[in-house]
Amino acid sequence: MTTLPILYEIFLESSSISTDTRSVKKNDLFFALKGDNFDGNKFAYQALEKGASHVVVDDASVIPAFDEHNKQKLAYKNQYLLVDNVLESLQKLANFHRKQFTIPFIGITGSNGKTTTKELLRSVLSQKFKTYSTEGNLNNHIGVPLTILRMPKNTEIAIIEMGANKVGDIAELCKIAEPNFGMITNIGNSHLEGFGSYEGVLRGKTELYQSLIKNNGTVFINSDDSVLMNMEKRFESEKVIKYGTDPMENNYYLAILSESVPVITYKDEKNNKIKTQLTGAYNFPNILSALAFGKFFGLSSSQMNKGIFDYLPKNNRSQVEERTETKNTLILDAYNANPDSMKAALLHLEELPKNGKQKIAILADMFELGKESFAKHKQVLDLALQLKIDKLIVCGTDFQKAKSTGNLISSLVLSFDDKKELTEYLQENPITESIILLKGSRGMGLETVVELL
Ligand code: ATP
Ligand code: MG
Repeated sequence: MTTLPILYEIFLESSSISTDTRSVKKNDLFFALKGDNFDGNKFAYQALEKGASHVVVDDASVIPAFDEHNKQKLAYKNQYLLVDNVLESLQKLANFHRKQFTIPFIGITGSNGKTTTKELLRSVLSQKFKTYSTEGNLNNHIGVPLTILRMPKNTEIAIIEMGANKVGDIAELCKIAEPNFGMITNIGNSHLEGFGSYEGVLRGKTELYQSLIKNNGTVFINSDDSVLMNMEKRFESEKVIKYGTDPMENNYYLAILSESVPVITYKDEKNNKIKTQLTGAYNFPNILSALAFGKFFGLSSSQMNKGIFDYLPKNNRSQVEERTETKNTLILDAYNANPDSMKAALLHLEELPKNGKQKIAILADMFELGKESFAKHKQVLDLALQLKIDKLIVCGTDFQKAKSTGNLISSLVLSFDDKKELTEYLQENPITESIILLKGSRGMGLETVVELL
């Protein structure tokens, strides 16, 4: 069996870590992970052929034996590193690597806004420090170790996004990343299926706090969030940084100055204006937390403002698009959806100035809500019907069901079984001069109807 110190030596000499033979490059260290439908061990030879320096495997039968007739295969024999469990090796190696750094490691978890907060934080902190953060959404038991192992040597601050589907996930990620700073964006109703209930989500997410307390870390808490504030007393007071909208009580505060599409403006305690390219009031705490970290790490106001303004939302997260042809304003939030973010997005749509346009919400099903799914879809629909929104279009079987059990008004909602039907409708009934919110779970792929708007 290959020991951790040996594996670490080999890792240091390799160019990068790979877990996918399609993207393996010369001198990469390949980890033969298993998935539901594949076994990386079977691809180990292929990885070596593509130039991997070594392959970490946990199935001894893929290692060529002495009497192997294939000379080429036999030549690779010493490049196989046998371990008990490839995934555990990857995680242990990442933790070993993490221990070599004595820099701030910021762990971010929460139900909504992790990636946005992480990106804002990266944008702000990189105005002063060599900042490294999770790529995209690589926030799980494989993504977190990969993030750590891909960190450049000269990194001065690391930001690690941590996602969870069930109780215990965040504790596992904290054992790997050992964050010494951290924050929970919020605790809401996402991934109810795996967590079982809201209480489960609460327990799961606060595993980050437990890890910070254990490692004498510093926590950043949104003081406008009573659920998070309830947990403040678990920490020694000098280990808590608060931020929020109350100027008296908080270390860092900010107020909304004006909120219009596409720019939200804020003002800070010194009346400095802060501009963003984000839409949606729900981004306010995300921005605020990035500024609080910026201030803590000694950035100037102008560095922080530049960091916030430079962040351009991507991947259908809080993106605004003005369409010249149709005169539509699109609020693209089709990256994902859960009951809380749906509610926040709908309230935001209602608040926007109309400017002579009509307001339309196109909502697609929210996934992974388990047995609460029907009730949650119904709640969202009921809320949307109460708001000043001119037209409501829903798509997906869960929304259909919620609509069919609703009252008379809900019969005014346009509903479609699937995206194909919605697409056909939009082709035949083009929408113009409207402010349109598009939101649904990732799997619904609502972004593909954008071209019709
Ligand atoms: P994932 O679980 O997929 O990693 P995430 O937590 O990283 O999601 P983001 O990708 O940052 O979240 O944002 C996804 C969507 O959540 C946004 O498009 C927006 O609709 C909503 N959202 C973002 N921030 C908040 C917030 N603070 N409160 C409520 N909803 C939010
Ligand atoms: Mg994310």
